[in-house]
Amino acid sequence: MNLPDQNELPSPVIERHRLYVLQESCLLDTPPDAALDRITQLAARLFKAPIALISLIDEQRQWFKARVGVEVAQTERKDAFCAHTILRHDVLVVPDATLDPRFKQNRLVLGEPNIRFYAGSPLRTRSGVPLGSLCVIDTKPRPEFDESQRDLLSQLAEMAMDRIEALRSIAFVDPPTRLLNRARFSDDVRAIFDERPIGQIAPSHAVLVNVVPLGYLDQTSISIGIVATDRLMAAISRRVEQALVDIKPVYRVDYARFAVFVYGDESAAMRVIDAVLRAFDAPLLVNQIPVDLSPTFGLVDLSRIDEPTDVLRALMSSSEIARRARVPFRKFAKRMFAAQERTFFILNTLPQALQDENQLSLAYQPRVDLRTGACVGVEALLRWSHPLLGEVSPAEFIPLAEKTSLMSALTDWVMDHALKQLATWERAGIILGISINVSVLNLEQRGFVPRYISLLRTHGIEPKRVELEVTESALTANAKLVTENLRKVADMGSIVAIDDFGTGYNNLSKLQLYSATVLKIDQSLVRRVLDNQYTRTLVEGVIALAQKLDYRVVAEGVETQEIYEAVAGWQCDEAQGYYIARPLAAPVFEAWYSTFSRNIIDSSVPRDSLDRDKLVT
Ligand code: C2E
Ligand code: MG
Ligand code: MG
Repeated sequence: MNLPDQNELPSPVIERHRLYVLQESCLLDTPPDAALDRITQLAARLFKAPIALISLIDEQRQWFKARVGVEVAQTERKDAFCAHTILRHDVLVVPDATLDPRFKQNRLVLGEPNIRFYAGSPLRTRSGVPLGSLCVIDTKPRPEFDESQRDLLSQLAEMAMDRIEALRSIAFVDPPTRLLNRARFSDDVRAIFDERPIGQIAPSHAVLVNVVPLGYLDQTSISIGIVATDRLMAAISRRVEQALVDIKPVYRVDYARFAVFVYGDESAAMRVIDAVLRAFDAPLLVNQIPVDLSPTFGLVDLSRIDEPTDVLRALMSSSEIARRARVPFRKFAKRMFAAQERTFFILNTLPQALQDENQLSLAYQPRVDLRTGACVGVEALLRWSHPLLGEVSPAEFIPLAEKTSLMSALTDWVMDHALKQLATWERAGIILGISINVSVLNLEQRGFVPRYISLLRTHGIEPKRVELEVTESALTANAKLVTENLRKVADMGSIVAIDDFGTGYNNLSKLQLYSATVLKIDQSLVRRVLDNQYTRTLVEGVIALAQKLDYRVVAEGVETQEIYEAVAGWQCDEAQGYYIARPLAAPVFEAWYSTFSRNIIDSSVPRDSLDRDKLVT
């Protein structure tokens, strides 16, 4: 057994840290370095040794960063003399390996290169972590290796280490900005955590500045080009650095994400956030184009984090959650990890759901004409019965899917199944219109309209029977393809509806752009319509104005008889909501529909005598 004696083995914790520092130093498996080569050659000449090496001790091997007199680039760690050297502070001298119990059975002693004499000096970083050693080796024993020779070898090792430190610092700097990089951030976090028990003065918080949303720079590369995007990036870096002149160092941990450590308390961290926010008050100018950016921040109390590797993840999670919530910053809480993991899980299991007929289904919520009281159509609403998470609401998974390429497959699935159902009902004599929700993302694709037409054909559905709902808040003025696609849909006779109207910032005149003829007033407004005079006036006013502009108006979220009567009184065209029926599975809807239609004909039966609860899914 050639491993060092038990009492010479490094503790697993120290060894883990050592390996981490070695990995982070980005030295392993790199091309030769001329300066290190020269130091090794010098060592060989000064000591008249046939072999000289700069050996780095990796987990299972020693790898030679520089070598004289040896062909191979690495050997197994268990055979490495240098693995013993890194456990000491002074030079390890083995005058005759055949006489040393630690080495006499060593493969490198018994066979090639037949080591007899060995002298190695450890290569330690400035913080004292040994990465490997500089050694000289002879194939003949050397009984003498005096103090001055040891000193000389140590000095050469120090020179080698200076060079290694210089190489390491290059690996820790982000070249375009000269800021420290993510590797250095991780390294420093680890050092902070290691020093915690020793009671060193340590930062209390870390702050992440997240300047642009995920995917933003991909978009700018497409719209203004890569060169301008690089310029934008440089301008962003400068702004952040100027805002944080008093804080050193600033790390660039990702393309447009910067991190700093804060000493003191939370108010010190808040001052950092405030300074960066103010720095972005004015737009950046790139190619004469003013670019408005509003950074979001992640704030992490380091005392609440157990593992150093969780710090960056916590910073990223909290800043991303802040962005989604449209607030400047979020303070990290452990539950955010759970939320992010759920998101990840949902996104990863969605493709499977699209293949599995048992997971996705459609529910149909009736829409009633308020003048005749008849059910004139249904809205198809997606349901996901997840094998592990149970029912997952579309309000949760649709916005996630919208960030991925899955959205078009999902809308395809919905259109296909909804149109198939409509055809089945038609054959059974149930003549209805159907509303399908589509994402703006779908409408941004050229293939959308041809695909829609082909599905209508497949199921033999007339375009006029289908309404496509687009959420108001997702519509922005610059979506040319969206308006084009919606016009095509309207031109072929389908209906375009603006969903959740009243939640976005579009005014009525702008809606002309989208070829919409139906407005669905958002349920959050309708549900509260009788709660106060303001919402009442607002909804009543929107209905009146929309009527004048010839829109068909649908009130969503009609939960009670009072709301139903109120919106009917305001001449709203249609109503949809729990008071009429919840979204129902197809067979349940059919049962509901036949009872409901009978009740309409026999109008002596009051509406609320319908046994609604039994029909609810
Ligand atoms: P939405 O399109 O506005 O659909 C109406 C939502 O309001 C449905 O929620 C419905 O169950 C709920 N609702 C209906 N009546 C009432 C009521 O009286 N009171 C209350 N409190 N709620 C009522 P659901 O099914 O959870 O869907 C949520 C959202 O998810 C939908 O809002 C829509 O934006 C999206 N979504 C659902 N299915 C699809 C789909 O197939 N494709 C796309 N792109 N989005 C979908
Ligand atoms: Mg809808
Ligand atoms: Mg809606």
